[in-house]
Amino acid sequence: MTRILIVEDEQDIASVLRDYLRHDGYDTEHLADGQQALERIQADPPDLTLLDVMLPGLDGLGVLRGARACTQAPVIMLTARAEEIDRLIGLELGADDYICKPFSPREVVARVRAVLRRTAANAPHASTQGPLVLDETEWNASLHGLPMQLTRREFRLLQALARHPGRIFSRGQLLELAYELVDDVTERAIDSHIKNLRRKLGAASPDHDWIRSVYGIGFSLEAPAR
Ligand code: CA
Repeated sequence: MTRILIVEDEQDIASVLRDYLRHDGYDTEHLADGQQALERIQADPPDLTLLDVMLPGLDGLGVLRGARACTQAPVIMLTARAEEIDRLIGLELGADDYICKPFSPREVVARVRAVLRRTAANAPHASTQGPLVLDETEWNASLHGLPMQLTRREFRLLQALARHPGRIFSRGQLLELAYELVDDVTERAIDSHIKNLRRKLGAASPDHDWIRSVYGIGFSLEAPAR
């Protein structure tokens, strides 16, 4: 059974989430304190964590940072303010999704399902996303079996996006992930590499838009539904 840890100090919200998730077949556990939550995650990581930002003990950012050091299991952040989401993404902590309060519990369940689906698909072969195959050893990329002619920089950018399909990366994050050893790449260059990647992906896969632009934030790779 898939285990979901709900870290939320507002009892009413936690109860509603727990009821909906249980109804959907998930096993849930609830903790209201950030420090306790982190210790729980370190001792026995759940399959997914729903993590409030404002918490007693240790705040959600601290919990996420600590969790990332020991598990890649997905984390969905819950935050009370929409503007907060930009800041959270900017902090580059690598949450898998963000949900703004107030939310409908149905929406949360749908997002949980979606995040679990895409992380499960991603886990065994980090370099394969459906018809997209990235072979790191040879710097070869193919889509629907057709080789793609990518520059190394395009390859690295696509690889960074493909490691976490659906996750939204800022330009700064992509710079760091894809080009950590290359110091002459700028944030503006990311846009031109993205544009080239879009064109090349589109040539082999005209029916699917692989790269999503999120206005004001960045980009994510969207694998086609299977
Ligand atoms: Ca709270």
